[in-house]
Order: sequence, then structure tokens, then C-alpha cells
Amino acid sequence: MRLDVITIFPEYLAPLRLSLVGRAADRGLLDIRVHDLRAWTHDRHHTVDDTPYGGGPGMVMKPEPWGEALDEILADTPADTPADPDADDGGAGSRGPVLVVPTPSGRPFGQEVAAELADRSHLIFTPARYEGIDRRVVEEYAERAEVRELSIGDYVLAGGEAPVLVMVEAVVRLLPGVLGNAESHRDDSFAAGSMAHLLEGPVYTKPPVWRGREVPQVLLGGHHGHIARWRRDHALRRTAEHRPDLLRAAPPESWDPGDRRF
Ligand code: SAM
Repeated sequence: MRLDVITIFPEYLAPLRLSLVGRAADRGLLDIRVHDLRAWTHDRHHTVDDTPYGGGPGMVMKPEPWGEALDEILADTPADTPADPDADDGGAGSRGPVLVVPTPSGRPFGQEVAAELADRSHLIFTPARYEGIDRRVVEEYAERAEVRELSIGDYVLAGGEAPVLVMVEAVVRLLPGVLGNAESHRDDSFAAGSMAHLLEGPVYTKPPVWRGREVPQVLLGGHHGHIARWRRDHALRRTAEHRPDLLRAAPPESWDPGDRRF
């Protein structure tokens, strides 16, 4: 997968070289390119913002540097991801690059969106600052690529770099070969498998007793059926406590006949 990030704070993306994402890049599973937006400015001060039309507080990011940056990166998109959304790809739908625009006014970013993005081979992130990017940039590139405006939560951060770190990590851990054990994310909270619509319940490791607190006996017994039931019950209980909305939205077929209602 190729990841491009265009930002006025390239150093903010340094964590992409660490841990799981960094290791995936070192192993050649990811090609991460972080670009300084100011490289596409032409004035002495490398200006990227200006006052908003219509008045109001704050500044707005100018369209020209974004346009030049995106033109260059889209022209350099990998061969298996044609930039033309109408490309003939055997009817499978466009597999071109995805422009990911972090914004609090976007659609919610969740595990399902992460899985959709993990299925693509080129993601271009445009983290903004100030009051965001001139609207015409999204309009322009929506005609040339798939654009996803995404919010990581109902709060406003100073910039889109932290949301990019969040989204990249969520996407990259779903890529084949990235997690040591491919099963690791199967039972995660929000995963689409047998525990769909449930948060993950509590987890334990050695020692069996710590400060007088014992690991639940069932987990030590080795009976797979009992362990699976215990895990599901605790996932149900935790979801009922923390996210009852997820249970209310769960379709009838996702319930197991043995499920208790908490
Ligand atoms: N005035 C904008 C609004 O109310 O929608 C907020 C702009 S915010 C100060 C600056 C940038 O931070 C945004 O353009 C976006 O890139 C990023 N950002 C802030 N909060 C975010 C969130 N919850 N999800 C995704 N991106 C966010």
C-alpha cells in the first residue's frame, strides 16, 4: 500500500516510522511518503493560508498549494491504481487512489471504513490546519479520484495530523502480514466477525493471581466452548454498559440463542 500525507508539519508524522506502522514500512508492506505542503508555495513566506471570504475569525488554507501538490502526487500514483475513476477495471468499480480529507464535519471514521480503506492500494491524506481547506479543492478532486471526508470524533482538534496517525494505524493493522498473528484483529471491538456489534471484554495474562486478584477460572480450564461463551457474555455486558447503542443497532441474526441480555 502507498500512503501519501501532505502537511505543513511533516515532523508531526514522525511516529509513522515507529512501531507497527514503521515495521510494516521497513518490511516493504507500506510505502509512506510525507510531503511538506510549503514545497508547493512560490512566495518568499511560503504562504498557505488567507482570510476567509465572507468574514469571520481564523484563516483558510489556500487552494493553490494543495492543487499543485495533489496534481503531482496523483500523476505519480502507482500503476495498479489508475487515477481515472472511470477506468475500465472489469466492472469491479474504481480502484484508483482515495483522497482522505480529515475534517470534524466529515462522515465518522470507524472500523468499517478502516477495512474499506485497507482494501485500497493508494491513500492520500490531506490534514489541514486553521479553519480547513478552501472547499474548491475537495470539489476539484472529487471529479478525479474518490474523496472521503472523515471525522475521527465529535471534537475539534487544532489540525488533521493526529487524525491521520489514528486512521493510518487503524488501516495498517488490517493489512495482510502486518500483525504477527492474522487472527489478532478477528475478535477486536467493532470487528466484523462473530463478535460483530460487540466491544471486546476483559483480557488477562500471567500470573494467575496478582495482588490477590485471580484470573477467572474458566479461562484456565482449557474448555474452548466455555471460554467462548464466557468471552461473549463479558463482551455483551461491557457493550451494554459502555455502548448500549451498538446493541440496539445489532441485527437479529447477530444474536446467539445463548446470549443473555444485560
Ligand atoms: N472549523 C472547522 C470545523 O469546525 O469543522 C475545524 C477546523 S480544525 C481547527 C483544523 C483541521 O483539523 C481540520 O480541517 C481537520 O483537518 C482537522 N481536524 C480537527 N478535528 C478533527 C476531527 N475530529 N476529525 C478529523 N479531522 C479533524
